[in-house]
Amino acid sequence: MIIVGGGIGGLSAALACGQAGARPQVLERAATFSEVGAGIQMGPNVTRTLHAWGLAEDLKAIGFAPRKLEAKDTQTGQVIGSLPLGQRSLDTYGAPYVTVHRADLHRVLLQKLMRSGHAQLHLDSEVEAVQQAADGIQISGSSLPASLTEFSQFSAMVGADGLWSATRQFVVPPTTPRVTGLIAYRALLPMQSLPEKLRLQDVNVWLGPRLHAVLYPVQCGECLNLVVVVQGLPPENLNDWDHAGHKEELVRAMGPIHADLRDMLAAVPAWRLWPLCDRPPVQGPHEMAKGRIALLGDAAHPMRPFLAQGAGMAIEDAAALAKSWARADLSVEDRLQMYSQARWARNAQVQQRSIRNGQIFHLQGPLRWGRNVAMKLMGESLMDVPWLYAGP
Ligand SMILES: Cc1cc2nc3c(=O)[nH]c(=O)nc-3n(C[C@H](O)[C@H](O)[C@H](O)COP(=O)(O)OP(=O)(O)OC[C@H]3O[C@@H](n4cnc5c(N)ncnc54)[C@H](O)[C@@H]3O)c2cc1C
Repeated sequence: MIIVGGGIGGLSAALACGQAGARPQVLERAATFSEVGAGIQMGPNVTRTLHAWGLAEDLKAIGFAPRKLEAKDTQTGQVIGSLPLGQRSLDTYGAPYVTVHRADLHRVLLQKLMRSGHAQLHLDSEVEAVQQAADGIQISGSSLPASLTEFSQFSAMVGADGLWSATRQFVVPPTTPRVTGLIAYRALLPMQSLPEKLRLQDVNVWLGPRLHAVLYPVQCGECLNLVVVVQGLPPENLNDWDHAGHKEELVRAMGPIHADLRDMLAAVPAWRLWPLCDRPPVQGPHEMAKGRIALLGDAAHPMRPFLAQGAGMAIEDAAALAKSWARADLSVEDRLQMYSQARWARNAQVQQRSIRNGQIFHLQGPLRWGRNVAMKLMGESLMDVPWLYAGP
C-alpha cells in the first residue's frame, strides 16, 4: 500500500493500517514531516479512536481537557448556551473531549508510527501521476526515488494529500475546491502573557453578526488558541493557505464587539490568516474509492471548520480503512469499496452540519436574536451532537 501525504490523515492511515497488517509506504512532498497551523478540538468520537491505537498517554501529555464549551454573544458578552465537556464527555461517550496543537498531535502520530516499524516514510517525494492497472498501481513524479516508480507496483493507493489533492482526480472528475468567502484569522498566545482573567480553562465560542470567534487552551493549558472567522475576500494565492493577517483589517471586518472579546484579541501580536475552502458534501461511495485507489481526509471531504471535525473525520477514515484492509479474504478493490461504503454518508453528514453551523454562527438581526433565545432555553441539547460523538 502506498499513502500519498504525511499530514494527520496520512499518518493516521499508516498507523492504523500498519496495526492491521499492512506495510505502507508514506510519500510526503515536504522536506520535513511537520505540521503548521494551530489548535484543533477533538470530540470523544476522535479520542476514542486514538486511545484504541495506544495513544491515550501521549494524548494526555500534549492535550487539554476543557471543562465546558460556552457560547457568548459578541455584542452583549452574555453567555447564551453552555455544554459541559470534562467528566460529562467521559460519562456519556466513554472518551474525553480534548484540545491539542496540530503539531503536537502530528508528532505523536509520527513517533508511534516510527516506533511500530510498520511503515516506510519518504520525504521530498511528490506524487504527480498515478496509473491504475488490473494488477496494481504505478506512481510517477520527478522527485520520487526510482525504487518507487520504475520497479514497483503497489496493491493499493490512499490519497491523503489534503484540500488541493493531486490524487483525487484519479477517483472523481477534476474540479477545484470552493471558495467559501470566509477567512479564518488564527493565533497562539502563551497563557503567561495574558492577564489572569483572560486565562481560559474552557472552549469559548463567540457568536456575532457575520463573524464568530473560538478560543481554547492547548498544550496542557500553557497556550491559548484563538480563531476568528469573518466574511471577506481571500488573498490571491489560495493554494498557499498560511498568510500574515493584518490586525487592522480584522478589527475593521469585525465591527463593534464586546470589551471582553476585544481585550482578548488585542493581546495578539501577530495573526495568521487562512482562506476557508471546502467541497460540496460527498455524494456517494464512488467519491471515496475507485478500484485500487481510496481517498481519505481533506482529499476526499474538505469541510468548513464549524463542527471542529476535519482532522477527526480523517482519523475516523483511517480506522475504517484499517478495518477493511484487515479483511484479507476480500480482494483489494472490495476492501476499498467496503471502506468507502462505511465512510461516505457520515462524512457527508458532518460536511453538511458544518455548513449549517456556520450559517447559524453568523446570523444577523432578528434571526440572531431568535438563535440566542433558543440557545438560552435549550443550550445543552442544541450544542451536544450525540450522533457524532457516539462514533460511527
Ligand atoms: C481554521 C481551521 C480550524 C480547524 N479546526 C479543526 C478542529 O478543531 N478539529 C478538527 O478535527 N479539524 C479542524 N480543522 C481541519 C483539519 O485541520 C483538517 O481537516 C486536517 O488537518 C486534514 O488533514 P489531512 O491529512 O487530510 O490533510 P493535510 O493536513 O492537508 O495533509 C496533506 C499532506 O499531503 C502532502 N501532499 C500534498 N500533495 C502531495 C503530493 N502530490 N505528494 C505527496 N504529498 C503531498 C502535504 O504536504 C500535506 O503534508 C480546522 C481547519 C481550519 C482551516
